[in-house]
Amino acid sequence: MQVYALPLRNRFRDITVREGVLLHGPAGWGEFCPFADYSDTESVPWLAAAVEASDRGWPAPVRDRIEVNTTVPIVAPERAHELVLASGCRTAKVKVADKRATLAEDCARLAAVREALGPSGAIRVDANAAWDVDTAVHALGELDRAAGGLEYAEQPCPTIDDLAAVRRRVSVRIAADESIRRAEDPLKVAVAGAADVAVLKVAPLGGVRRALEVAEACGLPCVVSSAVETSVGLAAGLALAGALPRLDFACGLGTMSLLQGDVSTTTLSPVDGYLPVLTQAPEPDAYAPFAASPEVRQAWQDRLARVRAEFRRAPR
Ligand SMILES: [Mg+2]
Repeated sequence: MQVYALPLRNRFRDITVREGVLLHGPAGWGEFCPFADYSDTESVPWLAAAVEASDRGWPAPVRDRIEVNTTVPIVAPERAHELVLASGCRTAKVKVADKRATLAEDCARLAAVREALGPSGAIRVDANAAWDVDTAVHALGELDRAAGGLEYAEQPCPTIDDLAAVRRRVSVRIAADESIRRAEDPLKVAVAGAADVAVLKVAPLGGVRRALEVAEACGLPCVVSSAVETSVGLAAGLALAGALPRLDFACGLGTMSLLQGDVSTTTLSPVDGYLPVLTQAPEPDAYAPFAASPEVRQAWQDRLARVRAEFRRAPR
């Protein structure tokens, strides 16, 4: 077992350092890294995903590379243009509805991203649940126009009911992200008619196999995203994206650049907008510079022991 502490390039979810545990087993390495605000019970699927990777490995993929999106944060239009060109990706996810930017500024950023991508590129926006229904309906109309067409809008509102209400009133496809945190959630989203696309993350859903079952049961087109893991955890997301029978959209797995380093020298950075599907997670061979302090290591050992106890009790 290894415990890492990796600084982020920019603050994310109010954290500046990503921490987690790397577990070794007969099939290779798995990563256990629930965010600090996850309870022991909520962390059980994260452990299930890590144990699947280390003890069992993943199902065979049906494709060997995954198209990924670049992410455009709240920056000036000129910077957005540069970031998109430098990424090599043909799909951009643009953060909108942030307190630091007006709707007009969001529109200007989208127009710059369209100019960088050209007419064949795809632009999606992510509002991270910031809007109420009326604000979302108005904003999505403006943003769709400014972008010259949006591929979809991720989580415009917080609740499933609000997503459904927005979806009835706009022509832009709606994707559910924050509404999908547990394996039951995608089914609720689908039944409520709340989304056209489901954003799936391996760890909170309990592993690649479980996520494949969830994808099949909800019947929605899926996009696989990371939880900002190291390459060990990212490989599990790529395994899911590689094994999904259908994959219509670029995935949110190009997140390695958010971290200041990696635990492996086989680091998963996109080339020309694609990442390779690995059948096994990389070996954590570059872990030493990011080894956690003794205190952090002890805290994760204690957390892992508590979650393991819950994991053994949990019905499967
Ligand atoms: Mg999102």
